[in-house]
Amino acid sequence: MTRPALTTLSDLTRAGLADPAAEPVLARVAETFRIRISPAMQEAMETPDDPVGRQFVPDAAELTIRPEERTDPIGDRAHSPAPGLTHRYPDRVILHVTQTCDVYCRFCFRRETVGAAGPLPAPELAAALDYIAATPAVREVILTGGDPLTLSARRLGALLGRLAGIAHVSVTRLHSRGPVVAPERITPALIAALRAHPATYLVVHINHAQELTPAARAALARLAEAGIPLLSQTVLLRGINDDPATLEELFRSLVALRVKPYYLHHCDLARGTGHFRTTLAEGQVIMAALRGRLSGLALPTYVLDIPGGHGKVPIGPDYLVRDGAGWQVTDPAGHHHRYDDPAR
Ligand SMILES: *Cc1c(COP(=O)(O)O)cnc(C)c1O
Ligand code: SF4
Repeated sequence: MTRPALTTLSDLTRAGLADPAAEPVLARVAETFRIRISPAMQEAMETPDDPVGRQFVPDAAELTIRPEERTDPIGDRAHSPAPGLTHRYPDRVILHVTQTCDVYCRFCFRRETVGAAGPLPAPELAAALDYIAATPAVREVILTGGDPLTLSARRLGALLGRLAGIAHVSVTRLHSRGPVVAPERITPALIAALRAHPATYLVVHINHAQELTPAARAALARLAEAGIPLLSQTVLLRGINDDPATLEELFRSLVALRVKPYYLHHCDLARGTGHFRTTLAEGQVIMAALRGRLSGLALPTYVLDIPGGHGKVPIGPDYLVRDGAGWQVTDPAGHHHRYDDPAR
């Protein structure tokens, strides 16, 4: 792949992805939110308004900021003991190792900060590692960003090696869109770097089966062959994947590629993303339809990151409601059944 990433509005116009008549409006979008479409995603999209195109091509609808939307939708800044570090749950921290990504998603929950800087500066990384080393409650370190796989293999290997040297950090995890949007990054050197910590999990961000190009499939296979446990996270996106058949195809494809669907995220309240957001009730209806027809291996948990930094919670649908001294349980077909606990 020799074509470059598209990073400006004029790049998009030249590539036929932006309507020249819409340029004045899109220029205002581009002033506020960065653009980047990787070579692999240019290949995966057929038109700017297909399920891949709409994730990356800017839209005038992004100028509509709704009152409930926020600049820090999941409260990253609310629990930060050191620059680049978020410590919200006792046993795990998020380390924002870089702010760069290979693509800039139009619905990104960190769209106010992605692309604003490169790797976390060395003194800040050192301070974050000192905090982790001094905090034995931290069992898991989650590398995110930005996208941690935009770091060089050398830098990533050194970081995972440092974490491997901290006895209480038994697990590391990376959240990345890299294997899908930049599969050429998954080189033998990168895989060796991932193995610098003995228990490194990789959570791949993917929203539609159309993103699974032959190159992405091959990259996932290389990671699975190397013994890296693979999970996925998907954002529920209106007009892109908000129907059971589309998600079924995605989740079945992932399981066949040895990737376990982990989370389906309700779309966060980032500014200018209302056109992508379903209602919670719509998400629950989709999940209920999937529950009846997909293997448990293929079913992620539908979660909401409560705005303001209050954490992630499963948001149903609920199968259990109180009924007097017992319970009503709903089966996947929607029928209700009585369940009684043992009398105490
Ligand atoms: C999402 C998140 C995690 C990871 O949560 P899991 O449920 O373990 O995947 C950890 N810390 C913060 C601050 C988060 O937002
Ligand atoms: S890859 Fe993730 S962090 Fe980067 S722009 Fe997309 S959603 Fe945001």
